[in-house]
Amino acid sequence: MNESTHDSASFTTTPGFCPDCGSILPLLGDHGGVTCYACRRKWGAEVFGSMAMTYTIHFNDEDTYASSKQADGDEEEPDGPIVDRKCPQCNHDKMSYATLQLRSADEGQTVFYTCIKCKFKETENS
Ligand SMILES: [Zn+2]
Ligand SMILES: [Zn+2]
Repeated sequence: MNESTHDSASFTTTPGFCPDCGSILPLLGDHGGVTCYACRRKWGAEVFGSMAMTYTIHFNDEDTYASSKQADGDEEEPDGPIVDRKCPQCNHDKMSYATLQLRSADEGQTVFYTCIKCKFKETENS
């Protein structure tokens, strides 16, 4: 009998899951390793596969994103077009609206109304 079949070939590692016990791993720390909550084994960044790359890029991006957002300044911009609609909370008669296709096209869309005065939010399914 040839018992040389190496397990690692059939071992599929899902990024983000412990290769040993299959538990979901905590997020990769900046020290480049992670410890499985379930079996207490330590793993390197490689258990995350390409995810490790994504995390690194994400961390780098955060600084640039934060600074470009600050330059924007004004956050009091309305969410969308203004319509004549009475706010149920403060009775102001102008609300802005935004639509979002939540489900499949034939199931209609959800309209989000935001009072431009008190920022009360209301949703309506059409
Ligand atoms: Zn584990
Ligand atoms: Zn209002």
